[in-house]
Amino acid sequence: MVREQLVERSCAWCGEPVAYSGRGRPPRFCSPVHRRRAWEVRSAEERAGRPVSKGGRSTEPVREIVQRTETVVRPQIVQDAGRGSAAPRPAQRLSGQPYTLPEDAVEWIEALAALRREAVTNPKVAPFREHIANACEKTLQVLRSEMPGPDGTTPGEP
Ligand SMILES: [Zn+2]
Repeated sequence: MVREQLVERSCAWCGEPVAYSGRGRPPRFCSPVHRRRAWEVRSAEERAGRPVSKGGRSTEPVREIVQRTETVVRPQIVQDAGRGSAAPRPAQRLSGQPYTLPEDAVEWIEALAALRREAVTNPKVAPFREHIANACEKTLQVLRSEMPGPDGTTPGEP
């Protein structure tokens, strides 16, 4: 005659062996802590399995909406920005189109050379040679005068 008797079973939480004394219901967990953890997981799974309207968890995958904003930087000409309309903008044609003045001595010298050519060849410039000459004389006076100091005063002035 063969008789079987439960001697040990593994904890349903951690899998560690739990001895069975042979009396009463066989233990399912090695400790009250593991019994508690198993119950928490089981009840949480039950709660999560309910419909979303009853506090359950959605089975839908997480979705994201990404908004894409592209910033384009482009230069634009602002007319009379920050100054009265009475102040003429030197680098602006009568048509309102901007143009570029020479930026350094070499460019000014080249511009003046161009003026000498234009004064005799360009029908838009030639009729105003006298006006241009007057402007050149004023320019000459300034060019040949003494340089003002850093603070804007002319050396020699009180
Ligand atoms: Zn355990």
